[in-house]
Amino acid sequence: MSQDQGKTEVKPMKIDDILQRDVWDVDLEPHITVDSSKCEKCPTKPCLYLCPAGCYILAGEKVVFSYEGCVECGTCRVICPMNAITWHYPKSGRGIMYRFT
Ligand code: SF4
Repeated sequence: MSQDQGKTEVKPMKIDDILQRDVWDVDLEPHITVDSSKCEKCPTKPCLYLCPAGCYILAGEKVVFSYEGCVECGTCRVICPMNAITWHYPKSGRGIMYRFT
């Protein structure tokens, strides 16, 4: 009898698969605002690379932000070198609802 019999194989999940299980109740009022005049002067734009939800994209030379898919990690608030981000949690009951099953 093999030692592996009866054991459940656990496969690591990718971030995209994990996020697809979550649901959002998006507030009409954004919980994050970005001062685009400061973004224009930012030489590195780390938000483009470090936001796990891809909320920041580059359109031409301009950073475009959308808050709807935000996972509320707080990364952009910490890493913005221009202090361009005003960050609050969404109103109670709004935003992402994590599903851990
Ligand atoms: S809080 Fe996290 S997920 Fe939301 S916009 Fe900022 S970096 Fe992206």
